[in-house]
Amino acid sequence: MKKVFIFLGPPGCGKGTQTDTLSKELNIPHIDTGSLLRENIKNETEFGKIAKSFIDKGRLVPIEVVASVIGERISREDCKTGYILDGFPRSIEQAESLKAMWEKSPYKFEKEEKVAVYFDIPTDVLVERLVNRRSCPVCGKIYNLKSSAPKVEGKCDICNVELIQRKDDTEETAVLRFETYNRETKPLLDFYQNEGILVQINANQGIDAVYSELKKVIND
Ligand code: AMP
Repeated sequence: MKKVFIFLGPPGCGKGTQTDTLSKELNIPHIDTGSLLRENIKNETEFGKIAKSFIDKGRLVPIEVVASVIGERISREDCKTGYILDGFPRSIEQAESLKAMWEKSPYKFEKEEKVAVYFDIPTDVLVERLVNRRSCPVCGKIYNLKSSAPKVEGKCDICNVELIQRKDDTEETAVLRFETYNRETKPLLDFYQNEGILVQINANQGIDAVYSELKKVIND
């Protein structure tokens, strides 16, 4: 059974939404790199100060920052039985650094327990998804103004607070994020193919259909 999941895919491919469900079902933490970085920005930490300018430009935050944040996170007690990495690694350099973290981590997993899941989806669908994405600042629930709109316009169904749009979800920054993805992250598909742990799923379908594909991966 798979216990450590690496979710790969372009911005807006839906991996965040799928991770939330999988994390609850398997009772393992969802480690969302972007959210951890945004939290550091909000709390005005040293890491946050460095990260901000990179995130605002749609570029990758320097590896020292991301590796420290992730290395600390996967060593916590709640990662003992597994975890889902969402948004890390995002480059070959980061994938190598993850291997080094696994060596040092107090929790070890066999190769058969690890899987890199690639959410495959055509790029033209994505800009549209990103610019329509809104989220709840309190519970983090993600909405799409076209495909999964909140019941009351602009308000979270659960918390009833005003939904927000991420600063980097504008069309201009989205395009930059795709360029970064194609240049830095796409080569990871070959990397994990060579490691023998890559699985591809079709992310260009409804949320439930994507989730059923994902569930098959768990026990393969
Ligand atoms: P996300 O929420 O995953 O779309 O990430 C938002 C932004 O956070 C990205 O555009 C990057 O600037 C930064 N970021 C997230 N994950 C990483 C990572 N693994 N390495 C470097 N920067 C990252």
